[in-house]
Amino acid sequence: MKTKRFSTQALCVRAAPDNDRPSPIGLTSTEVKSSQPISSDFTWAREKMAQEQIIARGVSDARVIGAIRKIPRHLFIDPGLINRAYDDSALPIAEKQALSQPYMVARMTEALQLFGEEKALEIGTGSGYQTALLAELCFNVFSVEKIRALSRNARALLDRLAYHNIALHVGDGTIGWSDHAPYDAIIVTAAAPNLPRPLLEQLAVGGRMVIPVGGAQNQSLLRITRDGAGFHQEELGDCRFVKLLGKYGWGN
Ligand code: SAH
Repeated sequence: MKTKRFSTQALCVRAAPDNDRPSPIGLTSTEVKSSQPISSDFTWAREKMAQEQIIARGVSDARVIGAIRKIPRHLFIDPGLINRAYDDSALPIAEKQALSQPYMVARMTEALQLFGEEKALEIGTGSGYQTALLAELCFNVFSVEKIRALSRNARALLDRLAYHNIALHVGDGTIGWSDHAPYDAIIVTAAAPNLPRPLLEQLAVGGRMVIPVGGAQNQSLLRITRDGAGFHQEELGDCRFVKLLGKYGWGN
């Protein structure tokens, strides 16, 4: 594992003006459209996924494994793909985006080293699956999504699943969500060309950020840890994500 240290002074990018802040989105559970019942369906498929894809590949955080066993992944995808919900692969969601492979979701979440008291920030709400996982493992979760329709659907499902510790915003997540900063954990679920400076600034001292950084096709999964002296970077392996758009991403 390659590691290095750096400080934000080396990254000369101006701070985001106030009007770049994402706007709040307030939606109610009456907007739920899915007809899928919430039940213990797919329990067996979920257990098989946990054993073969998550535990067998070395994820060992019992809280992460427990949350993955619990969350009904099949509700977060298009009903037409329901039989693939627990496959060992990423799955397409609306707006040409993707729900990450279960192992990658587990690996990234484990890398955040969550104990239950954290305030977490997610960039890229997408289907809301990763958001639900964070909600199981943290005190509260703030998640920013660029595409309004995705955020709206995620809000409806997360309400239906009775997650009360999640706040969603629509906007450019590369500028973070400064109103609630600093965050103990930040996870970026889309690929960035560089480390977005606002996210580094919004990371608490002692906090961890997990983010894929690299080219449009392939990236390296990085864990950034902030301590009193600055930032420490570890490379956790190769990965492939959809592009992080926006001001400190690939542009719009
Ligand atoms: N965590 C999601 C994965 C979503 S894929 C899940 O569990 O389903 C990545 C998401 O990042 C997409 O929904 C995409 O619209 C979003 N995204 C891309 N650039 C963004 C930005 N600048 N701010 C917020 N969201 C962004």
